[in-house]
Amino acid sequence: MKRLVYADNAATTQMDTKAFEAMKPYLLQEYGNASQPYSFSRQPKKAIQEARETIASCIGALPEEILFTSGGTESDNWAIKGTAFRNYNYRTTITTAFEHHAVLHACEAIERLKYPVAYMWPDKNGTITPDELARHITDETLLVSVMYANNEIGSIQPIKELCAIAHEHRAIFHTDAVQAVGHVKIDVNDLGVDMLSASAHKFNGAKGVGFLYIRKGTLISAYADGGVQERGLRAGTENVAGIVSMAIALKENIKALKENQEHVFRLENKLLSRLSEIGIPFVRNGGDHTLPGIISLSFDGRDGEAILHRMDLMGISISTGSACDSKNTEISHVLQAIHLPDSLAKGTIRISLGKNNTEDDVDAIVAGLKKILAKR
Ligand code: PLP
Repeated sequence: MKRLVYADNAATTQMDTKAFEAMKPYLLQEYGNASQPYSFSRQPKKAIQEARETIASCIGALPEEILFTSGGTESDNWAIKGTAFRNYNYRTTITTAFEHHAVLHACEAIERLKYPVAYMWPDKNGTITPDELARHITDETLLVSVMYANNEIGSIQPIKELCAIAHEHRAIFHTDAVQAVGHVKIDVNDLGVDMLSASAHKFNGAKGVGFLYIRKGTLISAYADGGVQERGLRAGTENVAGIVSMAIALKENIKALKENQEHVFRLENKLLSRLSEIGIPFVRNGGDHTLPGIISLSFDGRDGEAILHRMDLMGISISTGSACDSKNTEISHVLQAIHLPDSLAKGTIRISLGKNNTEDDVDAIVAGLKKILAKR
């Protein structure tokens, strides 16, 4: 049987076994609605509170600053739209041209309602420099939203510096940290951010659950109106099992953070040095400061989509830097934003390794790429 190699951990991750086991009681036995006053709901309610405390302690927040959502997309939409709608003077939101579409499309939605949005551009390494923010920000800026690390090329942003500039102008600062939470150390007070988005399935939790950190005192509109869940800011019956498992997944990842990082960086270095040894020319995107395991590689004059499909036939799951429809190969907005030449952009793939990948996986990936790229 063909061995399967999963190397698309930036798309989603395998669930942590402890996190999975932690879900079960809240689906089968303790299935009470956490908002009900009777004793059958006591345990689900307590479990949500404990999960809130655990998650808060993992990122240096207060429990009441953690608001549960359905994942990264909702957290981003809430941060962008909730801030704009709470502001009655139509002040400007500043974001970047290479955000995830959850931020970009939320910004386009508020623009359609006449809320002004300005876009910053990363440099060729995929970094938003403090100078770039200084060029855009004014005392009329409402919100600055910059992702912690880019999901296609892995580049980590100077969030602390950018946040300090935003605060000098009394703007609110949000970061989409969906790719980073559970993979690098995050302390919201050290960074200074006012809001931070996270998603459980990116750190070995379940799909369809996440959170938005909202610093105490930050003004924001409710995301969903209805019941009083999440302090009346995000109505809807809580996803108890998902929330509980998200807390366990994050706690487990944070407990083994250093070990996981070292493991993934070791695999990453092995992959890159093996590719160099066998003489396959490539360009690595994202500069020198990238998230562990996110490896964006461009092969000049090659076709990233074709590489993806041929790797798939060998049982290896990776991703590309370009989205293809039946007519056009469109270069991703991220690769366009860093001004990668077309012949490199079209030949771009993203390999994203996680804590469950092995040396054998790397050998299989290198062997696959060699087979595809060694001969024209
Ligand atoms: N933001 C970033 C940077 C992401 O990588 C993703 C998912 O790929 C999202 C937001 C959306 O998260 P979710 O899948 O939980 O909606």
